Amino acid sequence: MEKTKIVVAGPRGRMGSEAVKLVERTEGYELVAVVDHKHGGKKLNELEGFSTSSVPIYDNMTVCLTEVKADVLIDLTTPEVGMVHTRTALELGVRPVVGTTGFTQENLKELEELCREKEVGCIIAPNFAVGAVLMMKFSQLAAKYFPDVEIIELHHDQKLDAPSGTAVKTAQMISQVREEKVQGHPNEKETLQGARGANYNGMHIHSVRLPGLIAHQQVMFGADGQALTIRHDSYNRASFMSGVKLAVDTVKNVDTLIYGLENIID
Ligand code: NAP
Repeated sequence: MEKTKIVVAGPRGRMGSEAVKLVERTEGYELVAVVDHKHGGKKLNELEGFSTSSVPIYDNMTVCLTEVKADVLIDLTTPEVGMVHTRTALELGVRPVVGTTGFTQENLKELEELCREKEVGCIIAPNFAVGAVLMMKFSQLAAKYFPDVEIIELHHDQKLDAPSGTAVKTAQMISQVREEKVQGHPNEKETLQGARGANYNGMHIHSVRLPGLIAHQQVMFGADGQALTIRHDSYNRASFMSGVKLAVDTVKNVDTLIYGLENIID
């Protein structure tokens, strides 16, 4: 069987370097190039920490996907760049698997239309950890019975976007089953701006950023005389890679945009 030819964008990043390792160790996958804005023209094994693969490094996605035959792009960069990469891949018929977070609703709408127009599949998942997907699903189930909910997401202090894509996705999933309601006292006032966090359909989302953390979230439900907390912790970036693999294997067989790993695991 032919190998799945993969390009990784953001190979020096914390997530991207794990993705390179995943592709290199997985039977049936072939790393064909990487996209790194600082090292175009070099070979991957010229970079510190990458001794095993001599694939070319491109600093431009269009040039990369025009010169190299690829089936799948794994993007783990930044929101603005990731959007350009994903759009370019779809236009050139390469299927994106996107872990980059911070895409807007407008971005997602545009990509959904592009997938439909080009009939090329794309999977975007704000969280590739299977446990995090279960945390979101369990939270959606709990919200049917506990409509008062606050989401606390905790990440390392180098994260660029807040709230996390996982927190927003969780709030969206809960909104599908929970009638919009204002939580807390109707006359509550913040004496320090931001004290109650962000507000999504009446649900409050709080973002914690501290060195030492990786990716954590707890969804807290309260009702008369009882509380329920659902929590997930990612202790390292390897925790995301089984989800990335599942997405790579799935994206080859779809021709629409799939947003969220929960839509491909059962
Ligand atoms: P990171 O360590 O900062 O890595 C981002 C990488 O992207 C860096 O190596 C950066 O290079 C590179 N980059 C920036 N602009 C680029 C460009 N134009 N072309 C190619 N590469 C470019 O961040 P991370 O922790 O790996 O996270 C990456 C993304 O994944 C973020 O959006 C994060 O929120 C998301 N994430 C997703 C999941 C998930 O499960 N879906 C889990 C964790 C993180 P420089 O260092 O030179 O700027």
